[in-house]
Amino acid sequence: MRIPCPHCGARDVQEFTYLGDAKPRRPEGLDATEAAMLEYVYVRDNPRGPNDELWYHAAGCRAWLMVRRHTLTHVIESAVPTKSAKAGVAA
Ligand SMILES: [Zn+2]
Repeated sequence: MRIPCPHCGARDVQEFTYLGDAKPRRPEGLDATEAAMLEYVYVRDNPRGPNDELWYHAAGCRAWLMVRRHTLTHVIESAVPTKSAKAGVAA
């Protein structure tokens, strides 16, 4: 699989580190109950289809990327820097 880094171009997946699903957001303040933190840390969906993921280009520009990848075909629809990306919104 090759990931199209917006800074470096298409690179082999071995240059990247996979963090995981990009959708979970850390509960803040008083909402950070034990149950909310348990869900944030451990509970994940197992989507079938396009999914937003966080990837780190460790052997390249060292940028965090939001990659929209189809989980069945591994076709990558988009890869954008996380600073300009929002989970669930097509880039
Ligand atoms: Zn890069």
